[in-house]
Amino acid sequence: MSKTILVTGASRGIGRAVALLAGARGWSVGVNYAGNREAAEKTVADVVAAGGKAVAIAGDVSREANVIAMFDAVTAAFGPLDGVVANAGIVGDKQALVDMDASRLERMFAVNTLGAFLTAREAARRMARSRGGKGGSLVLVSSIAARIGSPFEYVDYAASKAAVDTLALGLSKELGPEGVRVNSLRPGLTDTDIHASGGQPDRAHRLGVTTPFGRPGKPEEIAEAILWLLSDAASYTSGAIIDISGGR
Ligand code: NAP
Repeated sequence: MSKTILVTGASRGIGRAVALLAGARGWSVGVNYAGNREAAEKTVADVVAAGGKAVAIAGDVSREANVIAMFDAVTAAFGPLDGVVANAGIVGDKQALVDMDASRLERMFAVNTLGAFLTAREAARRMARSRGGKGGSLVLVSSIAARIGSPFEYVDYAASKAAVDTLALGLSKELGPEGVRVNSLRPGLTDTDIHASGGQPDRAHRLGVTTPFGRPGKPEEIAEAILWLLSDAASYTSGAIIDISGGR
């Protein structure tokens, strides 16, 4: 069945891979991005080439008005939502907590935690049956950092994702009666731009060789699991925290 979804942070990396897989299924995709319009438009063109529909939507997930506007934009383009992927996220430079300043911590929790909460709240408002929605699936993209803690690298990031896991546990219970499934998906090391954004462009491959599979994951391998959670095949899955981490 064709679906309409919104994917935050879909211009690059894991979010882009989700958009492309959804496009190959003929789905309609809201492709949110923060600032990289060119990358977002490339994702849109590739979704359309894959057989789906897509629209690029700028917006910062840490800003409430932007989040509301991105939901309005995807609904205006394609109709009521069936699924939402709260995927947008950031890391910081490699630092121990003793060296982190408040502005770094504020930004980390603003994007990764507040951003996920605002996206989840808006998904709840739009998809809950008692509010006129048709039910659906919300996938929160967390990280196995939530159970590792990421010492000397980014404990702020790890903790920002642990909050997302807890959100999935509680919100799944609030929204089960509303026909909305909520799950947390925790990728392991995945080969995307995020590591370069944190000043460690070689990180995925450097650490990937130490994992059971001896390599980092590909964004497409993470996206497969997200697509499953969005699909009707996952109809009895909610409140789950699922690691896709090559055994790490
Ligand atoms: P990425 O390649 O760096 O892509 C990040 C995406 O998020 C881009 O589309 C970016 O948009 C968007 N974005 C960043 N800040 C945003 C904001 N404030 N508002 C809206 N969009 C924003 O990252 P990735 O590796 O695909 O990561 C995706 C998710 O997976 C993140 O939540 C990350 O924490 C999680 N994760 C990744 C890994 C990994 O090893 N890669 C492992 C575990 C979990 P622009 O292109 O416009 O900048």
